[in-house]
Amino acid sequence: MKGIRIGSVLRARCPACHQGRVVSGFFSILPRCPNCNYNLHPEPGFYVGSMVVGFMLTAMMTIPPMIALKFFDADVGLIVLFPFVEFLFVGTFILFYCRIFWLHLEYAMTDRLDGH
Ligand SMILES: [Zn+2]
Repeated sequence: MKGIRIGSVLRARCPACHQGRVVSGFFSILPRCPNCNYNLHPEPGFYVGSMVVGFMLTAMMTIPPMIALKFFDADVGLIVLFPFVEFLFVGTFILFYCRIFWLHLEYAMTDRLDGH
């Protein structure tokens, strides 16, 4: 098994060559690496799993603070607003990196003899 380079994940680089950027904008993953032509969509629905993981991570970071807010008798408006803010900002951030990490994980766990 090959290792995962965290630096490449953080900079959203290709898992194969660590040079090409794998994202276009913030929401879409390019079909192939612009540098080495590595296939960034190995199978249909490849990123669905990463979105489930990302969603669960976001929920884990959202629910305990909400319980804490309730416990400390915070304003109802704040308790209602909190998950929206959390999912919008933190959730987007987590989902973005979950997909990159997912791609690197897939690369690390498979040996592709054909080089694609
Ligand atoms: Zn590449």
